[in-house]
Amino acid sequence: MGILQRSLGVIALAVLFVYGSPALASDDRARQPLADDFVIAIHGGGGVRKRDKMTKELEAAYRAALRQSLQAGYDILVAGGDSIAAVEAAVIVLEDSPLFNAGKGSSFNREGIHELDASIMDGRTANAGAVGVVQGVKNPITLARKIMEDTPHVMMAGEGARQFARSAGLELVAPHYFWTERKWKSLQRRLQQGTEYGRKPRQASIRDSGSSAWGTVGAVARDRYGNLAAATSTGGREGKLPGRIGDSPIIGAGTYAHNDTLAASSTGLGEYVIRVVSTKLMSDLMAFKGYSAQQAVKASMQRVVDMGGGVGVIAVDKGGEVVMRYSGRGMYRGFVREDGEFVTGIYEN
Ligand code: ASP
Repeated sequence: MGILQRSLGVIALAVLFVYGSPALASDDRARQPLADDFVIAIHGGGGVRKRDKMTKELEAAYRAALRQSLQAGYDILVAGGDSIAAVEAAVIVLEDSPLFNAGKGSSFNREGIHELDASIMDGRTANAGAVGVVQGVKNPITLARKIMEDTPHVMMAGEGARQFARSAGLELVAPHYFWTERKWKSLQRRLQQGTEYGRKPRQASIRDSGSSAWGTVGAVARDRYGNLAAATSTGGREGKLPGRIGDSPIIGAGTYAHNDTLAASSTGLGEYVIRVVSTKLMSDLMAFKGYSAQQAVKASMQRVVDMGGGVGVIAVDKGGEVVMRYSGRGMYRGFVREDGEFVTGIYEN
């Protein structure tokens, strides 16, 4: 990207922050890529710590994990691999990190158990795979991909999903693998305060639910061949009732990809995102109303915000434009294009 394009991008961003909707902070970075350019974008959830609770060391650790995730996807795409493989690889890195609410760092439900959700979608074929409330599977995103590729189904849940993971040779782990002190203490605080699942959606906004209440990881990519893919994985909402399923494994809510429109992955309170059918709405706005990816993401997010919810989204469109928006105080995020310039962010700048 030339210096002029870069400067224009910075000016556009500044304009957006000053004049944009106050409810929606944005980190949109657009550009017209070459036809064979690729891009991958990731998020590590919108439940970011307050700035005064973010130490330099912790911020460096978050940025390093985001960078490692982008690198995993980049390595696949630069070698000519496809977008599905890239988003899976990027999400695995985030699932394996204790920093994010997915895989290893997942939130507990109110019984102190980890029930994980994930989904993946291939924008070329419209194939999709999803898993809900699964226990003991180290990388739910790989299970979602296996369900997509090796079964006649789209979605599996619970014990049946775990049995399938075992038969497919995926790595199973004991419950303590997912135990982290930070998440355990956070659950205890929540249970003491009585702010767990019992809050009705209208009473529980993203702002008042605390940084560890939510979080999710996701990746979207466009490969050299123009194929889009999206993947999302989460431990779900902290203190949730056993058996609760959020938006992350719901195709069209937490995850959606179609080569003609966009690939998108959400983070936010699933109880809102599901009812807006948020990522499918984005795709439909583009397909039937001629919206750009930025316009579609913004309009869909506004619906969630208007209902009283909070949401963050990453998306890439068929032309390779990246959109990253969030309604809370920030979102762990990043992207990289073919030029190998890795960009990561947490707050507004
Ligand atoms: N969307 C996830 C859920 O509701 C949580 C999150 O993204 O924060 O399970």
